[in-house]
Amino acid sequence: MNATPAHTPTDTPAPTARLMDGTAPARRLVARSAEAAAEITRRTGTAPCLATVLVGEDPASVTYVRMKRARCEKAGIRSLHVALPASVGTEELVAAVQGLSDDPAVHGILLQHPVGPGIDERAAFEAIAPEKDVDGVTTHSFAAMGFGLPGFASCTPGGIVRLLDEYGVELAGKHAVVVGRSPILGKPVGMMLLGRDATVTYCHSRTADLASHVREADVLVAAVGKPRFLRGEDVKPGAVVIDAGYNPGNVGDVDFASAARRASLITPVPGGVGPMTIAVLLAQTVEAAAGQLGVRDLPRLL
Ligand code: NAP
Repeated sequence: MNATPAHTPTDTPAPTARLMDGTAPARRLVARSAEAAAEITRRTGTAPCLATVLVGEDPASVTYVRMKRARCEKAGIRSLHVALPASVGTEELVAAVQGLSDDPAVHGILLQHPVGPGIDERAAFEAIAPEKDVDGVTTHSFAAMGFGLPGFASCTPGGIVRLLDEYGVELAGKHAVVVGRSPILGKPVGMMLLGRDATVTYCHSRTADLASHVREADVLVAAVGKPRFLRGEDVKPGAVVIDAGYNPGNVGDVDFASAARRASLITPVPGGVGPMTIAVLLAQTVEAAAGQLGVRDLPRLL
């Protein structure tokens, strides 16, 4: 008899990874931030205020800013929006950001990235006063993070580390591999993991044999901006996989289905890193307001 081999479960192993849900911890952090915002407003008569600055009308940026403003309003954080045309020059943008830095009614500033071609984005970021840099984009904030000094974290990296803590992931002595080295994401998340005693490898577009590095990762952070770029077959069995990517169609930088068969923990997209990013932004805005309004005895949010 010519028996057809049985289709065993090992042909297509079931997902082994536990989901790292970012929505529940984000909701808790936002709720605590809202309580603190209400207390600040009650005591000082001034609500915490986040100013958002948007250059041009890039649809993704418009959506991100709208979402961040809506979350602020819901949490009792006032939002002030500055919309500038795509034709704006560096000088004008810097002046607008400087104006918000000097405005005592504004406690946090978010300049939506990217600001478009032909503008010196770094100059615009540097016009944000350090005490209002709730998105953690200035050299001041970056250096403070690097030295382990108080300051505002870059929001997505801050959210990632918080999520790792929520799931009890031990970082000391672990090999963390960060794929991507952008100033707002890859670079700072690697530095934060280093600050938590992980051994960190950065990979980027010039890295030779990327897969060989990925295979060594106990903690893998994908921050590339290419849909399903990292494949499950390269994930070390038992690794913790953080997918910071967010590509059109709600797709991350990791091929979720194949990675979930090897990882021990993995973030979904959406519902993983994204909600944590916004929650950290709100919490840092409330902490900035508390500092500027002299409310010093509230419990720390982060
Ligand atoms: P980015 O500025 O474009 O940086 C992408 C990085 O990926 C660069 O460092 C680049 O290397 C590296 N890269 C590109 N091709 C590569 C390749 N073939 N092999 C290895 N590395 C490669 O992007 P980003 O702003 O960091 O964003 C990355 C992703 O995260 C995007 O999907 C974005 O939407 C998402 N994101 C999500 C959130 C959130 O809240 N969830 C926040 C921010 C960003 P080089 O430096 O050599 O060019």
